[in-house]
Amino acid sequence: MQDGLLALVLDQVGDGVVVADGNGRFIVFNPAARRMVGQEPADLPPSEWPEHFRVYMPDGVTLFPEGELPLVRAMRGEVVDDVEMVIRRDGDETGVRISVRGRPLRDADGVLQGGVITFRDVTHTRQTERLLRASEARYRALTELVSDHAYEFLVGRDRSLTPLWMSATLRQLGGFRENEEISKERFRDFIHPADREAFRTHRDRLERGEVDEAEFRVIGVDGSVRWVRNKARPLRDPDTGELMRLLGAARDITDQKLLDPLTNLPNRAALLDRISVAVARLARVPDESVAVLYVDMDRFQVFNQSLGYGLGDEILRLCAERLEKTVAPGDTVAHLHGDEFGVLLTEVEHASDALQVAQEISQVLSEAADIGGTRVAPSASVGIAFANGPDEPAVDILRSAQTAVSRAKRAGRGRYEVYDPAMQEAATVRLQLEAALREAIDGERFPVLYQPIVRLADRRVVGFEALVRWNDPKAGVVPPDAFVPLAEETGLIVEIGDHVLRCACRQMKQWRDELPEAGELVMSVNVSARQVAVGDLLDRLDAALDESGLDSRGLKLEITESLLVADPEAAEALLQAVRSRGVRLGLDDFGTGHSALAYLQRFPVDTLKVDRSFVHRLSEGGEAEGIVGTIVALATHLGLDVVAEGVETETQFEQVHRLGCSHGQGFLFAPPLEPAAALAFLKAGLAG
Ligand code: C2E
Ligand code: CA
Ligand code: CA
Repeated sequence: MQDGLLALVLDQVGDGVVVADGNGRFIVFNPAARRMVGQEPADLPPSEWPEHFRVYMPDGVTLFPEGELPLVRAMRGEVVDDVEMVIRRDGDETGVRISVRGRPLRDADGVLQGGVITFRDVTHTRQTERLLRASEARYRALTELVSDHAYEFLVGRDRSLTPLWMSATLRQLGGFRENEEISKERFRDFIHPADREAFRTHRDRLERGEVDEAEFRVIGVDGSVRWVRNKARPLRDPDTGELMRLLGAARDITDQKLLDPLTNLPNRAALLDRISVAVARLARVPDESVAVLYVDMDRFQVFNQSLGYGLGDEILRLCAERLEKTVAPGDTVAHLHGDEFGVLLTEVEHASDALQVAQEISQVLSEAADIGGTRVAPSASVGIAFANGPDEPAVDILRSAQTAVSRAKRAGRGRYEVYDPAMQEAATVRLQLEAALREAIDGERFPVLYQPIVRLADRRVVGFEALVRWNDPKAGVVPPDAFVPLAEETGLIVEIGDHVLRCACRQMKQWRDELPEAGELVMSVNVSARQVAVGDLLDRLDAALDESGLDSRGLKLEITESLLVADPEAAEALLQAVRSRGVRLGLDDFGTGHSALAYLQRFPVDTLKVDRSFVHRLSEGGEAEGIVGTIVALATHLGLDVVAEGVETETQFEQVHRLGCSHGQGFLFAPPLEPAAALAFLKAGLAG
């Protein structure tokens, strides 16, 4: 390139160009350079350039130390890239901000000949940038004031999002970093699984249309779940219309979402949250416990129906208030739904503390109150469950408390019950039982065993008691104590009882046919109160007798005292009807219940069965002997047989015999037997 042309170029370019030889003499100092940094000094050694040029680092404070100017560094052989500095001339307050590059100058042999720098004025660029930054900061600050989270995302073709900026709150919540691309997967994980579908439609709407708003849950890096109401606007390329950025703000509405609007109490989700937190804390304080109380109003439907739902709500609000007053400040009362509340007790030192609270709760909730001019007396049942350890999921504990409350309700109103795992077992048994019963009830699934009843005078068999078993494919043979109460509760006992009745009748008929000597034997069948309540017992009785062809005098129904006490009138009519068919009646478990001795004569009963608990207590002396003696005396007076249950030993045999019992049943004679074994026993007994 010719010198003339070079000079022309140097004159014209906007960038400053300065070339110095090895001695620090300026060979080139083009006009642009002069404009930016002032005249070059004629004869000044490089060590004095900084003072001449008054060079500062961009912070405006640090004077360039001698020898550190880019030009000096280039002259030393260094390559200098984009150093920013401020050059200030006298009287010039702000100076010129330049961005400098430097290169060493070498001759053809590579020997250092000096240095060259080029630089450009970036004062305005930086100023604009600063202004932009300031306005952006204001904008962000404002956005953060009116919303909890704000962001601007660059949208990738693959729907990935790169935050151009986001509020500190959002960064913290999601663990995001600015300018770091958030992959689709990463963002999907940020959205609560239950709300991903809702979020997708939200984003679809945003990508197609204008501003859109949606509510969904997000999961923070720390695992916390927050509800947000997000409002965003798509920013498109003005030319192509292509979606480029998403600008949005989101409010945290967790508190709103977790409050129950009727009572203003935390809702179920909020309670679960708090249970989780309290339970996790147990890892640090293993001596304490966490208790969850499930509070269920009794027969609340009655209030709703009689007072209307408006006043029903009024009662619920009153209950909410009362509950809040009952618990300690750090504890939580939540409205779960309907007439059910949950209470979280933290820092429970003794289980009895929780029981105390449960008791207080059922007390305050059963205080009468005036609601809309009506005096109402609500009551509540409470189920209590304790956390088993820091790893137990909150839902499990709440479910346990719920299991406990349903049990409390079954026991009566206004009670409380502590969950124990056996309840869960009972619940499982119930499910299995229901499932088993949904399939046909057959002899295989509900086999009937027969326990001989003997006359004490000669130990001869006079009959059998039919005792049902449940042969569960999974659990094996289940004794009646484990499923009869459940079957009674659910009403399934009606079908089971009918099955037992028919089996027993058929069996007795068969034995009578097989052994003519068995003609006098009587088959006893247990009948539960529930079977009676259904009202078709007589029909079923007739059907069983018809179907089997058994003489009605070969059958005895065992009922319990509770049946007589509940509705004596109806019981009497029914028993008369049974008796008029020739079917006999026995009173089971006598002495354990209400001991309806006084009106025993009113009922057409043939037999009293003395409960085995008395028989077993005979050896202890005490009152048992007196009770059995009284029962026998009464029975004799009324002309009834007395069967002593649970005779296990010769001693017991002698005792009940001496006290006047006419018959006995128990392991001493035989346990409940399979039909074949029962027949064998029968043959042996008859022979002997
Ligand atoms: P339950 O009517 O009092 O029947 C007598 C229970 O005492 C039977 O228990 C029998 O196996 C047991 N037992 C007999 N001898 C002895 C003995 O020497 N020692 C001891 N410790 N126990 C003895 P199981 O078969 O477990 O039946 C329990 C209860 O289940 C029955 O008590 C009855 O209330 C009910 N149940 C059994 N089968 C039926 C049925 O078909 N229908 C109804 N509604 N209830 C039934
Ligand atoms: Ca019985
Ligand atoms: Ca009994």
